[in-house]
Amino acid sequence: MSLTLPQPPRETLTGKSLIAGVFGWPVTHSRSPRLHGYWLKHYGIDGAYIPFSTHPAQFETALRALPALGFRGANVTLPHKEKALACIDQATERARRIGAVNTVMVQEDGTLLGDNTDGFGFLEHLQASAANWRAGDGPAVVLGAGGASRAIVVALLDAGVPEIRLVNRTTRRAEEIAEALNTAADRRITVHDWDHRAAILDGGALLVNTTQLGLAGQPALEIDLAQLPVSAVVDDIVYVPMETSLLAAARKRGNAVVDGLGMLLHQARPGFAAWFKVEPDVTPALRDFVLADIPGAK
Ligand code: NAP
Repeated sequence: MSLTLPQPPRETLTGKSLIAGVFGWPVTHSRSPRLHGYWLKHYGIDGAYIPFSTHPAQFETALRALPALGFRGANVTLPHKEKALACIDQATERARRIGAVNTVMVQEDGTLLGDNTDGFGFLEHLQASAANWRAGDGPAVVLGAGGASRAIVVALLDAGVPEIRLVNRTTRRAEEIAEALNTAADRRITVHDWDHRAAILDGGALLVNTTQLGLAGQPALEIDLAQLPVSAVVDDIVYVPMETSLLAAARKRGNAVVDGLGMLLHQARPGFAAWFKVEPDVTPALRDFVLADIPGAK
């Protein structure tokens, strides 16, 4: 006669639980615990994902403690992303080119491998939402030159976009990205004046807003879309609100539009797969679950 042992409810951790988390300061704004928590429950995984409120002065010590604590790895969010690159043992090529790490994996030998999945998340969501867009369609115009911009520029270069027109209020920051990523043989990034942002839309196949303009509480993004072909895709990575004034104006004139929430959801996939050994799906139910916790997003 076989004896069936009682199984613990899914919410109960066991000695075999797989554990990961996210480091931020503050970490209260992070959507990652809700996102990974949804997947853990959905896939019935014996695991947990924990938010760590970690002061910058303690970040390196906290990150380096992951192997000793038996963690599978962690996400890293503001303001630790650049520091993380300096604290890990090995970085993926894209993390090095982006200059920041958002996903850390504890390897078999206890060393830390750092990756940056922001550009991956951007591209996966763009391709899922604008199925007709192809990297080779034409130039991309990227507004902004902060951390998100750099990740997106690397992803667009790797996807094969023929030209990236980069424009930022502070031109020097855009020039720094171009200097870091252009090579002697590959000079696809061109830098333009903020005042010329409407004119450089001419012939563009993709427009991406990576500035904070349009974010709730920030000024709106002012840009005349008249020069942008109606065939171009317009992608705004701001997701509070989901329908920014840029997306509303683009939709009205017939451009395909892509919102910012999907980038957030897709960037989480590689980390979850590495830590919890399941390839997770981005579904409408996940999207609704995460959206429900973002005031002002709808
Ligand atoms: P960041 O490094 O601080 O960069 C901010 C960018 O916004 C810079 O290019 C900055 O220009 C520009 N900017 C700010 N105020 C401006 C103004 N009044 N006029 C013109 N430009 C202005 O921030 P980040 O991490 O790259 O994030 C940028 C935005 O992307 C945020 O809204 C963030 O929420 C969003 N984001 C979304 C996702 C997602 O998953 N969907 C992921 C990451 C970030 P200067 O250089 O001239 O200051």
